[in-house]
Amino acid sequence: KSFKRAHNFNAGPAALPLAALQKAQEELLDFNGTGMSVMELSHRSKDYEAVHNRAIGLLKELLAIPENYDVLFLQGGASLQFAMVPLNFLPAGKKAGYVMTGSWSEKAYAEAEKLGEVFVAASAKEGNYRRIPATEELKYGSDAAYLHITSNNTIFGTQWQDFPDTGDVPMIADMSSDILSRPFDVSKFGLIYAGAQKNLGPAGVTVVIIRHDLLDQANKKVPTMLKYGTYAKDNSLYNTPPTFSIYMVKLMLEWVKEQGGVAAIYKRNQEKAALIYETIDASNGFYVGHAQPDARSLMNVTFRLANEELEKKFLDTAKKSGFVGLNGHRSVGGCRASIYNAVPYESCAALRDLMVSFRKENG
Ligand code: PLP
Repeated sequence: KSFKRAHNFNAGPAALPLAALQKAQEELLDFNGTGMSVMELSHRSKDYEAVHNRAIGLLKELLAIPENYDVLFLQGGASLQFAMVPLNFLPAGKKAGYVMTGSWSEKAYAEAEKLGEVFVAASAKEGNYRRIPATEELKYGSDAAYLHITSNNTIFGTQWQDFPDTGDVPMIADMSSDILSRPFDVSKFGLIYAGAQKNLGPAGVTVVIIRHDLLDQANKKVPTMLKYGTYAKDNSLYNTPPTFSIYMVKLMLEWVKEQGGVAAIYKRNQEKAALIYETIDASNGFYVGHAQPDARSLMNVTFRLANEELEKKFLDTAKKSGFVGLNGHRSVGGCRASIYNAVPYESCAALRDLMVSFRKENG
């Protein structure tokens, strides 16, 4: 049955590449001639193991992950990482620094605070998280357990443009909403985590990239399933992993590779974001971006209109025209277009057209 794909600007779970969904559909009932769906395979079978290892291998290749890092598949979302990071890496007598750039950093900080000593290394809270602190603003000692950052702030629409060098202090990043959207130097980080449901695949799996020396230093007295070492030791097959989600991650990564890899995806993401930011900037204040221009996210474009009534009218008009997910997060209001890797250029162009025509009619 034919259907029209929605212009999907959801913040997560979010759009997936049509090609990956079609491949999943094609293979749904009979994976690789097994007479079974991927969902029905044993996680100990050769067929599943090949999927699992291919997903890991592709992520390593696409992000140029150095040899001394492991890629792990976990569950519990990025939210469980907020607790797992301090459980494993914040020993008594040490302090961990958090850079506050939005609601997700606050949540990460709040979890760590329950488990050990934490401090704010820098904050952009003043002015409601419109910017990313400059490297010079980051205050932490060389004895800090780690420095935690949120590379992209899904709710406020800001993004680190480049990452600091933290020397011997391991930098730990929540990259849930921008992993795989642009090339970056993995070796600057001790640990990276990301819920898959924005740029990597469907909900249900969390990806962790972890440097071996951190694994060695980790707290040993942590419950098995909360210990990174458990996943590293058994190639994330200590217990049953979310096999179907990992399979979808594999399909998504194959799609990224077919697009020309992360560099090509980045170029397209810049073009997509430019369509919308340029419309905001050319609107004479009709649309007002939330983020400072030098902190703008390529993944989540946040903006407001003159008042809530006009915002509601805009969102209603968008909804009627087949646009999904443009409401800002409930804590911020306004509008937000999440334009992750799988959101087509055409959807961004359609949004631009909608913004232009709405302004003409209501400006
Ligand atoms: N961190 C960031 C930056 C996010 O955008 C989100 C979800 O939107 C989370 C953490 C929470 O992720 P999860 O729902 O997978 O726990």
